[in-house]
This record gives sequence, C-alpha cells and structure tokens, in this order.
Amino acid sequence: MKPQSEVKPDPRRELPSVERLARSLRRHEPTLPKWTAVEAARIEIQHEREHVLNASRPPLAEAQLLERALRRAWRLLAPHPQRVINATGIVLHTNLGRAPLAPGAAEAVAAAASRYVDLELDLETGRRGDRLAAVSDKLARLSGAEAAFAVNNNAAAVLLVLNTLALGRQVVVSRGELVEIGGSFRVPEIMERSGVVLVEVGATNRTHLADYERAIGDETALLLKVHRSNFEQRGFVSEVGLSELSELGRRRGLPVVEDLGSGTLVQIPGLPAEAWAPGRLRQGADLVCFSGDKLLGGPQAGILLGRTDLVDALRRNPLARALRLDKLGLAALDWTLNAYLDGRAERDILVLALLTAPLERLERRAQRLAERLEKAVGARASFRCLAEPGLVGGGSLPGFELPGVAVAVRAEGGAQRLAERLRQAPVPVLARIHDDELLLDVRTLLDEDEIELEAAIKRALSVASD
Ligand SMILES: *Cc1c(COP(=O)(O)O)cnc(C)c1O
Repeated sequence: MKPQSEVKPDPRRELPSVERLARSLRRHEPTLPKWTAVEAARIEIQHEREHVLNASRPPLAEAQLLERALRRAWRLLAPHPQRVINATGIVLHTNLGRAPLAPGAAEAVAAAASRYVDLELDLETGRRGDRLAAVSDKLARLSGAEAAFAVNNNAAAVLLVLNTLALGRQVVVSRGELVEIGGSFRVPEIMERSGVVLVEVGATNRTHLADYERAIGDETALLLKVHRSNFEQRGFVSEVGLSELSELGRRRGLPVVEDLGSGTLVQIPGLPAEAWAPGRLRQGADLVCFSGDKLLGGPQAGILLGRTDLVDALRRNPLARALRLDKLGLAALDWTLNAYLDGRAERDILVLALLTAPLERLERRAQRLAERLEKAVGARASFRCLAEPGLVGGGSLPGFELPGVAVAVRAEGGAQRLAERLRQAPVPVLARIHDDELLLDVRTLLDEDEIELEAAIKRALSVASD
C-alpha cells in the first residue's frame, strides 16, 4: 500500500480563486469593469473545475486561463445585439435581425428616441391624438385598402385579428397551412391562445373548396388563409386560391383573412407577385396582415390592411393597447412608408436595394473582394468567384432563389475552422460552407463591410495586420 503522501493532490486545488483571477484580469486590463472581471473569472474557473473533474484534460496553466477569462470578459462587455457581417446571401435572416433599416430610417429612430415627440398629441387642437393616424393613412394610400392598422409584429397582428373577430367561435383553416414559423409561432397554438376554436379542413397536401364549405356552420366566424412562408409543397397537391375562398366567404357572409407573412406594398421586379399585399386585397381578402421587417424592409411591426369595419373593431379591442407599436418602430415605419410614397423605395430601402442588385454589379463586387483578400492574405488561402443562388429568407418566398455571386475561400485547416474564427472576430462574419469551401456571398454585404471582412479574414488566418 502506498503511503498517504503519495496520493495525487486534488487538481482542482491548483486552480486560482475567483478573486485572484479577477484581480489579475483587472491588472491586465484596468478599464475592465469589476463585475465583468468577477463574472468572467467565475465562469472560466467553473468550466475548468468541470473539465478537471471529468478528467477530460489536464488543468490549464494560469496564463492560459487568464487569456480565456479575458476573452470571456470582452464577450460579456460586448453590446447585444452587436453588429455582424452577413455574408450568407440571405437578405432576410431572422437570426441576424431580418431587415436592416435604411440610414434615413435609423436617423428617424434616433431623433424620436432622444427627444420629446408629438406621439399622441394633435398639434392643431392641443388635444390627445392618435399615434397611428399618420401611418394608417399612408398605408391605406399606398395599398388602396379602405383602412389600415399596425401593431408590434405580425404574430401580434394575427393574435389581434383572431381575438377580435372570432373570440369563442370557429376559424376554418386548411391542414396544409397549419405552419410553424421560427420555432415559437405555430398557427394552431396562436389560435388557441387567441381564444378561438380551430377547425381544420382538407388533408396535408390537398384541400378543396368543398372541404371549407362543409366545415362552415353557425359557429363559424372567419376563414383564415396562412402563407406557407418557410416551405413548399410539390407533387400531388392542391389548395384553394384566395379569390375562390373570398368568393365563398362573401356567399356565406364570413370575412376572409390572409396571414401573408411577408408582404410588400409595391411589385418588385424579379420577385413573385404573391407577396404584393394590394394584389391580395384585389383578390378579395377582407383583411391581410404581414411583417414590417420582412420584404417591406422596415422595422419590426405587424401591418394590417382591409375593410374599415374590421379595422375599427381591431382598434377597439383592449388587446390592441397591449400589442401596440412603440414610438421607435413607429418612426422607422413612417420613414419607410414615406420612401414608398416618394417613389424612392427601390433606391433607399436597403432590403429592396439588396434584393434587386443587378447580377453584373454583384459579379464586379465579388471580383474586387477576391482580389482584395488575395492581396491581404497571400498564400494562406485561395479565393475564386462562383455563381451561387441566394435565398430571400426570413420566411419569405420559400424555394425562390436569386442568382448571386460568392467568393469561395479554401484555407488550410478547413472551412469549418475558418467559419468559427470568423464568428469570433471583433465584427463577427457569418458565411455559408459548401464542399469545405467558405462562401462569402456579396449580395448581403453592406457599405464598408469589406474593411471589417478583410480584417476578420486576416485575423482568422493569423496574418499580421499592418
Ligand atoms: C413571419 C410570419 C409570422 C410572424 O411574423 P413576426 O413579424 O415575426 O411576428 C406569422 N405568420 C407568417 C405566415 C409569417 O411568415
């Protein structure tokens, strides 16, 4: 038997205390706030303890631990959300905040944020005013709708419509449209929480007009159509078109509502017409709703267009107050609608400019980027331009591809590792990977992104910066 003294000491004892590591962090970086140093030290020591306990690897030397804790501290200090570079080519990326606002819209937000504003004041009479009056008028003017309304987001719009028009009654929806959007918005669940009774009709792949007809009874309050935003159905499929459904609604005295998901106020050349909200109203929908930060290119909002009596009912629902748009979103939406009214939307609204960028311009940009990166990193990676279809994204126009161009990067250590390091850059870069190449799609690069992109690539490939 071995004497007691030769038993290995508990390696956890070799770890510094949280206080000691936090003190070294602040000696190293005197500007680091105390809370960040303590929190970073606590998290990293906890991680180390777990590693040592699971014997997954020997404990880190103190210098390494310090370096990790420093990185952690900077991450804790970073603002959230922080700027990233979207090199995925997906214009409306829900994880990346969907539509970036045009600079003018962002200025309107800043102005409304830091001053007093006439949010709910009628300057003519000095009495209380309606926060939504201006944008409602503009929305109606742009779309030709009788009336318009806006709330915090499209999920809120759907909730408000169902709760206002069908509380305690039945809403008929096709089984092919009971979709889930982004994990937390599921049509059946939002219907339940809105206080309405879902009546499913048809089969997953096929729904016919007769299915709707049979489902209508005394308890039916409305017919709902939901855009399949993030998937397509192919093969043996059929659905009832909006005109047909609207005709049925009129015959039976029931409003027909469409959740369009992604909607536009203008027809965008090169994109399918189905997203054009005025077209949906012309096909007979009594109400349509869609997101402000998808194809419209504005702030997060839920836009509602349609019949005056229905919109008035929405306005009067006490839930409208709980779902209302805030002054920052309102300022951005107002600016965005002005851009449409002035006829400068395709130039000034960033999302539209990105979606309609001509292929030749993308090709030139990719060429320039490839040359620039080649010059910056020398032999550490190879760069070539290739044609790559891009997606609209954000639950918009599934299956619809935009012709695009990407710079494909092949680097030592592989694309996965490069992608990881780019995500950890001071301005993180997000890109796609295909066949062990990293694809930098130029469609979604914004002005000045190239500078940070070059810096991130150099850093990721350990090229000294000059
Ligand atoms: C995106 C989407 C929603 C949710 O809209 P938010 O603005 O994210 O709340 C609801 N319905 C459909 C069909 C959508 O595509």
